[in-house]
Amino acid sequence: MDKIEHIGIAVKDLETSNLLFEKLLGAPHYKIEEVASEGVKTSFFQLGPNKIELLEATNADSPIAKFLEKKGEGVHHIAFAVTDIVAEIARLKDEGFRVLNETPKRGADNKWVAFLHPKSTNGVLIELCQEIED
Ligand code: ZN
Repeated sequence: MDKIEHIGIAVKDLETSNLLFEKLLGAPHYKIEEVASEGVKTSFFQLGPNKIELLEATNADSPIAKFLEKKGEGVHHIAFAVTDIVAEIARLKDEGFRVLNETPKRGADNKWVAFLHPKSTNGVLIELCQEIED
C-alpha cells in the first residue's frame, strides 16, 4: 500500500458538515459526488497528500444510513492508495483478510475501490483505492 489516500467520515447532513469542515480545515471542499449504487453523497477536502471524504446517506438502505443508526456520526473508513488493486486484493486474501469486493468497483473521485471487512481488521473498515486511468 502506498499511503493513506483519505479518511471517510459518516455525517447526517452533508451541507452542515461541509461548512463545519471548511472552518476546521481552513479550505473548501473541492467536489461533491453522488455514488448512486452505494446510496451515498460524498464531498472531498484536499489536505496535503491526503483527503477527507464526508459521506451522507441518500436512502435508508445505504450502508451509511446503517452505520449512522448503529454508531452515529464519526470515522467510517480509512482508504489506502494502491497501484495494483487486483494484486493487492489477492495478496490480502492470501493473508487471511476478508475482502468484501473480490472485483474492484467504481467508487467516488475516479477510483477503483474494494473494501475489507472490519471483523478482519480490528474493527476498522478499510478501503483500497486505485486511480482510474482512462
Ligand atoms: Zn472512501
